Amino acid sequence: MLEPLAPIGRDPDTDGYVRDAWSPAEMELREWFAGEAARRGLDLREDRNGNLWAWQGEPGPGRPGVVTGSHLDSVRQGGAYDGPLGVASAFAALDLLRARGVTPARPLGVVCFTDEEGARFGVPCVGSRLLTGALDPARALALKDDDGDTLADVLTKAGRDPGRLGRDDETLSAVGTFVELHVEQGRGLVHEGRPVGVASAIWPHGRWRFDFRGQANHAGTTRLADRDDPMLPFARMVLAAREAAARLGVVATVGKVRVSPGNANAVPGQVSAWLDARGAGERDVRALVRELAEGAHAAVAEESWTPVVSFDEALRDRLARVAGGDGTPAPVLPTGAGHDAGILATAGVPSAMLFVRNPTGVSHSPDEHAEQADCEAGVVALADVLEDLCR
Ligand SMILES: [Zn+2]
Repeated sequence: MLEPLAPIGRDPDTDGYVRDAWSPAEMELREWFAGEAARRGLDLREDRNGNLWAWQGEPGPGRPGVVTGSHLDSVRQGGAYDGPLGVASAFAALDLLRARGVTPARPLGVVCFTDEEGARFGVPCVGSRLLTGALDPARALALKDDDGDTLADVLTKAGRDPGRLGRDDETLSAVGTFVELHVEQGRGLVHEGRPVGVASAIWPHGRWRFDFRGQANHAGTTRLADRDDPMLPFARMVLAAREAAARLGVVATVGKVRVSPGNANAVPGQVSAWLDARGAGERDVRALVRELAEGAHAAVAEESWTPVVSFDEALRDRLARVAGGDGTPAPVLPTGAGHDAGILATAGVPSAMLFVRNPTGVSHSPDEHAEQADCEAGVVALADVLEDLCR
């Protein structure tokens, strides 16, 4: 099922994927989702926030369903598995249940959340955050991409009504339980020697924008003493982030920088940098950001913050038992990556995650990988879990 997706949004120079939300590549992936839903006779719906739902059986008031799925957008220059593996596995698990002759006693849904990565507008999990009310629709609509187009512009161009964005209780109430399968973004399962694991918690994490302002000027004629060069405090902030992260036992990354005017022969007038910080303890992550903000001489804005997510313990243990197959329970691992399952869990929807082994542990990169046999083990585990939850 992943094969027809392989060429969509692929950068031929790097083999990396660029699948921004609402881009032509992502629109093609949404078409693929609709086709897979139709092929199985599922009832396809797009909710007010652009998330896609394919239902087998009609969920209704007092009759919520079991939902599985993930997302189809990617980070820029991402891998083939982050997102699509969860969506393809959801359809494949449904096929497996049908092949087993299982008739679920509850409605079964496959979901594709929109704009999970936040590659285009800077805020991750836009689809699930809007759905649950965790993101204010007015704020979402004003978000701008690198071309200066707002989400409102982009939605309008895609034929959607921006005025419909916002918390959607009707859609949310159909989700009784959510299980997201995802490629592991680390090497926990490699160390465990197991193909499939279960998530225990998602670390608290956030993104901050640092704007360093100075004065643009000629690189040749401006004396060093006369310069107001924002690149220097920016560079100091990057080094300070690394040092503070090591000291506080968290991780901090500056992975995106915008330099204005961006000429090789000009002292920059402004440097904007994005800091991503995560860790097991919220206090330590907050301490890092506070320390950097105080020392940076920059305007600092928090673009997103996600508190720690501890998945429903009973559900987690049930998943570990079922997904372990006949042997010992599947290993339970924490993750530093955010997911739609975390947003739903925070909104009170019993949610859980299955991870599929990633031999390199590399993610958000073309080197991200999962062996065919492990993907198949993931589908079997997901089918077992859905069968158990749909009893
Ligand atoms: Zn993902």
